[in-house]
Amino acid sequence: AKKNGRNQYVLYHDGMQHHNGKQLFQLETALRKALERGEFELYYQPQLDVKTKQIRAVEALIRWNHPEKGFISPGMFIPLAEESGLITPISDWIMMQACEHLKQLQLRFPYIKMSINISPIYFQQIDFIEKLQKTIESVNVNPRSIELELTESAVMPHAEKSVERLTMLKTMGISIAIDDFGTGFSSLSYLHRFPIDILKIDRSFIKQLSRYREESAIVNAIIMMAHSLQIRVVAEGVETKKQYQILEKQSCDFVQGYYVSKPLSISELYEFLDMWNHLYD
Ligand code: C2E
Ligand code: MG
Ligand code: MG
Ligand code: MG
Repeated sequence: AKKNGRNQYVLYHDGMQHHNGKQLFQLETALRKALERGEFELYYQPQLDVKTKQIRAVEALIRWNHPEKGFISPGMFIPLAEESGLITPISDWIMMQACEHLKQLQLRFPYIKMSINISPIYFQQIDFIEKLQKTIESVNVNPRSIELELTESAVMPHAEKSVERLTMLKTMGISIAIDDFGTGFSSLSYLHRFPIDILKIDRSFIKQLSRYREESAIVNAIIMMAHSLQIRVVAEGVETKKQYQILEKQSCDFVQGYYVSKPLSISELYEFLDMWNHLYD
């Protein structure tokens, strides 16, 4: 890990387990302070329903506005939060904030769903579901409007326990999405054993979509397989019209990416949804 000048703690993540006790302690303090000072903010990226051309959901993406260092990307600090243990209070905050924003959003856009990324560490904690239930009840939001995004690495290591948990979430009315699909190395057999509603095809496949026939074949195969299992598909990181058209032709259900919109602050999101409805209704 690196240290540079005024940086008191390390924000360079070059693989886990590189931090000694003191560094971890400093990181934990920094993240705790960030939470107390309200330096975290949720941004929301719209997801388009290809058939209806409606925005069906938004994905909550956390941002850290550090007072001195400026914007710090979640790809950087989420792994550190996981390593230091601060992922738990941060995740508690994410769940509450996303549910509150969803509740407000639905007053104006009743059809909108909220998709929330869940850290594997948070997912595996025993009181995760109980806390989630409490949050949903206290905000009084419809659980059928909530989707949780998990990666293969979150559910695979404890497959049996995960099936149990996912089934409980489903019973509550919550939907399950597998994030970054195609980047893990697990067998596909879990797809029908787990109660999964949505696969999110990783951006790395979409990137090459207009350039290579092979990528197009892979994406097509994923979509067909998912559909035969009654699972719907989101393409992540769609940036161009060309990519969109290929996905539309392949019957991809939903697209997300800069082609539709970048992640937006909550106030930008209201403007975006108003504009979208104005254009497409
Ligand atoms: P992810 O869940 O796969 O999120 C998609 C990432 O792709 C986001 O990066 C988003 O801004 C970016 N993206 C979306 N469309 C495009 C596009 O068209 N082109 C390109 N180049 N990028 C696009 P972001 O916000 O930096 O988040 C990175 C990762 O950090 C997320 O990947 C997720 O794994 C994690 N993360 C973000 N927010 C949270 C959170 O609230 N909780 C947890 N546990 N993890 C989070
Ligand atoms: Mg995600
Ligand atoms: Mg993803
Ligand atoms: Mg990703």
